[in-house]
Amino acid sequence: MELTIVGCSGSFPGPQSPSSCYLVEHDGHRLVLDMGNGSLGALQKVADIYDIDGVILSHLHVDHFIDLTSFYVALKYRPDAPAPRIPVWGPPDTGRRLVSAYGLNGSDMSGQFDVRPVHSEFQVGPFRVRTARMRHPIEANAIRVEAGGRSLTYSGDTGPHPGLADFARSSDVALFEASNREADDNPADLHLTGPQAAQLSADAGAERLVLTHLVPWFPPDQILAEARSVRADAILAEPGMVIQI
Ligand SMILES: [Zn+2]
Ligand SMILES: [Zn+2]
Repeated sequence: MELTIVGCSGSFPGPQSPSSCYLVEHDGHRLVLDMGNGSLGALQKVADIYDIDGVILSHLHVDHFIDLTSFYVALKYRPDAPAPRIPVWGPPDTGRRLVSAYGLNGSDMSGQFDVRPVHSEFQVGPFRVRTARMRHPIEANAIRVEAGGRSLTYSGDTGPHPGLADFARSSDVALFEASNREADDNPADLHLTGPQAAQLSADAGAERLVLTHLVPWFPPDQILAEARSVRADAILAEPGMVIQI
């Protein structure tokens, strides 16, 4: 598998990166995990947006799904060729939230998106996908993708949760969020610090750790240094970064 970081800014886009969006490719198939603010533009630099096998949403916070409303425009009004209908897996309210966010009256996006409720396990082309509920103010899932004997676990957004380590067991790559700084009075069940992400990835026995959902308020070097106090091989996601899995 090949993972491309399309956007890794946490909570809102930053000057150097869109919000959360990750491209996973294997054997000519393409899967997109999350499509946060600004990501549709950056996605076009690394993939043909009309050749995507599916989009999986971790949850329905704007920084993880809102660019699907722009993708809808790109699909519906494509001038020169019919656009494909893209499968989208997300929490149960996904279809309604998309229509509401775009402001459609009396119609839906069913011509462009085949919206399906996310299940605990399903197949997309060569990708075996699993999801597990995390700790966040709304329904939020971690997503594990396996293909070609390799595995990637993306945390989505979550507070500290031992279930993430179980779910990510023996992953080749743990793509875990690290939104918070250690010294702050961080709310429960919302996000991880670098050391929490590092410890959960170590508990999982994950081979590599890539820190993401980096919030523009905080210096990335500080997030990385804090994570490396637990796991010296942690690295930061960067837009455009390609990781062979
Ligand atoms: Zn987020
Ligand atoms: Zn969130």
